[in-house]
Amino acid sequence: MKIHEYQAKQVLAKYEVPIPRGSVAFSVDDAVRIAEGLATEVCVVKAQIHAGGRGKGGGVKVSKGIDAIRKNAEAILGMQLVTHQTGPQGQKVKQLLVEEGMDIQTELYCSVLVDRGQQRIVLLASTEGGMDIEEVAEKTPEKILKVFVDPAVGLRPYQANELAFGLKINEINPKLIRPAAAVFMALYQTFVQEDCSLVEINPLVLTGDGRVIALDAKLSFDDNAMFRHKDNLAFRDKDEEDPLEVEASEAD
Ligand code: ADP
Ligand code: MG
Repeated sequence: MKIHEYQAKQVLAKYEVPIPRGSVAFSVDDAVRIAEGLATEVCVVKAQIHAGGRGKGGGVKVSKGIDAIRKNAEAILGMQLVTHQTGPQGQKVKQLLVEEGMDIQTELYCSVLVDRGQQRIVLLASTEGGMDIEEVAEKTPEKILKVFVDPAVGLRPYQANELAFGLKINEINPKLIRPAAAVFMALYQTFVQEDCSLVEINPLVLTGDGRVIALDAKLSFDDNAMFRHKDNLAFRDKDEEDPLEVEASEAD
């Protein structure tokens, strides 16, 4: 089961993964009110659909000032957003995430999933954040770091540290090695505790003011384990699912 970015960020926050301040908006007025509440110079208006590549499709707008927030919220809410993951018909945008604009120094990539060949959970990380990771995997596979987790002991802190050094975070800001390693541990905890099939942060950013923040978040739950997580069922958005799949699931 896929969920929206703002919901994924709520789940990640429970595990102390740092995220930007922000909230979901269902109308343009909501979006303006949230932006006013954030009281920050730059806000970002982000289309909430169950597909990635929103930025390139015009679904993510950095907005300076309330007039820009209103204009961008009007443009994105209700639009038929086409990305490389939606198919040519696109997906109608019914919700927005309005969040504070972050001072991005470096964009990294990080995800947690199951490597079926290895029969292990794997953490993937790359310095090529913010890009299409499938393209990185195809053209420069050496830029994707992998850490396999021994199921008997779980992800060890030394592995999280090695990943942080592997991304050369020490060369950018040595103070961020610890918080980055803590984020990797927290992403792994989220994956295991919530029975996820995917946790993907693209980009995970290092900011000018010395923080490590999950700027985007994509999270899918393993359907076979949903019975253990009744509260996560509230995140379901049937509008984003294939109508035939919805009907099939209702017929059990
Ligand atoms: P998608 O992956 O669907 O395109 P992202 O959430 O990754 O959407 O946003 C696309 C890009 O927009 C990011 O790589 C980042 O450069 C920028 N961006 C997103 N959120 C923020 C934010 N809160 N502050 C500053 N820039 C942002
Ligand atoms: Mg992204």
